[in-house]
Parts: sequence; structure tokens; C-alpha cells
Amino acid sequence: MPSNSSRDGALLVLNSGSSSIKFTVFRIGGEGDDIVTLFSGQLTGIGTNAEFSVKDTAGVSLARESWADRDTGGVAPLLHDLIAWIRARLPDLPLLAAGHRVVHGGAGFHHPVRVTDRVLDELEALVPLAPLHQPQNVSAIRVLAESFGDLPQIACFDTAFHHSEPAVARTYGLPRVLSERGLMRYGFHGLSYEFIARHLGETLPEVAKGRVVVAHLGNGSSLCALKDGRSIDTTMGFSALEGVPMGTRSGSIDAGILLYLMRQMGMDADALEHLLYHECGLLGVSGISNDMRVLLESDRPEAREAVDLFCYHVAKEIGALSSALAGLDALVFTAGIGEHSAPVRSRICSYLGFLGITLDEAANDRGEASIAAPGSLPVYIIGTNEEFMIARHAVSVLNARNAA
Ligand code: AMP
Repeated sequence: MPSNSSRDGALLVLNSGSSSIKFTVFRIGGEGDDIVTLFSGQLTGIGTNAEFSVKDTAGVSLARESWADRDTGGVAPLLHDLIAWIRARLPDLPLLAAGHRVVHGGAGFHHPVRVTDRVLDELEALVPLAPLHQPQNVSAIRVLAESFGDLPQIACFDTAFHHSEPAVARTYGLPRVLSERGLMRYGFHGLSYEFIARHLGETLPEVAKGRVVVAHLGNGSSLCALKDGRSIDTTMGFSALEGVPMGTRSGSIDAGILLYLMRQMGMDADALEHLLYHECGLLGVSGISNDMRVLLESDRPEAREAVDLFCYHVAKEIGALSSALAGLDALVFTAGIGEHSAPVRSRICSYLGFLGITLDEAANDRGEASIAAPGSLPVYIIGTNEEFMIARHAVSVLNARNAA
């Protein structure tokens, strides 16, 4: 363990979704609070035909197995076997703790927390705020608590990083009584933004002190305004539906559309939820795919329209967040699309000349870390690593406990 313990060990980080569980195992401890990635993998097809796969840090496959035979009673048998596999793989490295990505920390959880029975109940009470994701997060924690009671668990929240935002950025134009009930803007992707903020602080401290917009563009997309490394506004709000159009999510739409769909098309809450989360965004507009790669390769006009809509809205949000920051000192692209798609970065930045942004298109095509033209505001590509951020938090929580 880091400084307060003599033990080296393994840390399991879990990101539990509705039909998949992603995991990464780190070695923690040793001199200087080292955190070293050992391997990562996923359980996919949970509930139908679970498949288990693991790769090392070089991308070499360590295992790829069907676990359909044990995919019978929820996630418990799968998590048991995952832990057994890790222990067999690392016979000399004790499993010291598990860190979890938890989508919603509500108004109460501003920091990562060691899980207790009371914390688990509080996380469960937040299910109505994130009904599609929170139940899976909570059930993975509960399974480990019931079966491996001695294993410390640390919950890390996607919402927590945004607690620094001022009330004006967190409030909707709703009656006060509804805001007090929790209908406010929480924001998500916080672990990603926190990783980027810390990375900037370590590698570009002058930039980190300034006004930075981070564009986390993946299957889910949002943007965040950072001032001196802290979030002051973000595009997702009460739910992960607000903001820019995403792979299959609508992004912000006029609330009047929901009233229309309910009254004129007889849609109920479940139908609306399915539409807004699974049938909109790039998929809905293109009618082709939610995958940016597929759309960029397609020569159909609908694909082009979907990409254009995405880039237009991202650029518009960069302008809006620059207003919130009263100016802009740097722009960062991250996540699947942000890190890997030169044409999308180029199209977004083509709107941003008024902010002083011009890309070096050759550097952008090569995906270099710094892609702005001479004289432009800096524009960076930074790979995000939410799992590493969770590992860092877990080690801090364990150290604080050991020190206490
Ligand atoms: P994420 O949610 O961060 O894992 O991002 C996943 C998304 O990134 C995929 O759905 C793709 O649309 C997108 N993506 C990944 N690689 C590329 C690429 N080379 N070009 C364009 N989009 C990409």
C-alpha cells in the first residue's frame, strides 16, 4: 500500500452498465504512491450471453471466454468469477480494494467515499435521478459487499467534480420548490474532466490556471468550462440527455416536443425514455449509425447532416461556455471522437475563428498533442482515463483511512 501501509496490492476498478461491466486492475503501493495499470477487460452481453475478455496494456489478449453458462442469476456469479480470475492471475498480489464509477452522487456526495451500509442506502435512494445507470452501479457494490465483506469499496461520482459550479449554472428556470426537490443541473463525465484538469496541472500548469473548455466527445458527449482547474459550467444537466446531440441521445430539445409527443402521439414515460436515450442523436438524424466512423465514411447526405449537426452544436456550446468563462485561453478535445476524429475537430474549429482559434490541419490530421496553428489559441488532444482517476481517488481514500 502507499505510504501508510507496507503492502503492495491490486485495486479493481469497475464501471458497471446495463449489459456490460468494464474493469481495470491496477497495482497500487510501493514507493511514492505508485498506480500502475496491469490489465483491463469487460464482461459484455450480460443477461443473455455473457462474454469475458481481458487485455494487457499493450493490447495483447489475456483471455476471451464465453461465460454464458454462469450468466443465470444477475451479476453476482459473474462478479464472483471475475474476482476469482483476478486472484488466480495475481497469486502474489492481494486484492486490496475495489473502486466504482457511480453515475450519480446527488446533492450530497461531493467527493469519493468509502462505501458503508448507510452510503449504499443513500446511493440506492438516488436511483430515480439516474434510473438507467445507478441501479447497475449500486448492485455491483452490493454484490461485492455481500460476498467480500472485508474488501474496502470506494464510490467515485460522475457528478462530484461539478459541485464547484456556481448556483446560476446549476439552476433551471423552474419554480423554487422544484429546484429544492433536486431538479437542478448536476452535470456528468466529471471523472473525465477531473483527469484532464489534473493532467493539465501537471503538464501545462500555466494553461491549467486559465480558462479552458474541454470537449469530451464520445458515444456520450458533453463539454465543460474549467477555470483554474475547477468546473464552472457544463453542458449536461439534470440528466445525461442535456447538451449536444450524441450517439443515440437527443441532446437539448425544446421541452414542448415532449408535451407534443405525449398529447399527439400518445407516448408515455417509457416510450419517451427509449426515444430520447436510444433513437436520437447521430443515429436518429442519419438513420444509419451512432458511430462517427461509419458516418464519416458514408457518402449519404443524411450522414453528412448528422455530422454537421453534431459539429455545429459542439461549436455553439464552446461559444456559450466561453461566455461563462468570460473568455477562452485553451480548448481540449478528449474521448473517442475528440481524440481520434480529425475531420470532426476540424469542422468544429472552423466555426471558432472569432475566438482566435485556427487549427494546424496537418498536425490535426496526425493527431498530435498540440494542434493549433501559430498565433492561434492553444488547442490540445488529451486522452482521458476515468479508470485511472478512480484508482487515484481510491488510493487517497485508503491512505486517509490508514492515516486516521
Ligand atoms: P467513447 O464513448 O469515448 O468510447 O467513444 C466512442 C465513440 O468514438 C464511437 O462510437 C465512435 O463514434 C467514436 N470514435 C472512435 N474512434 C473514432 C475515429 N477514429 N474516428 C471517428 N470517431 C471515432
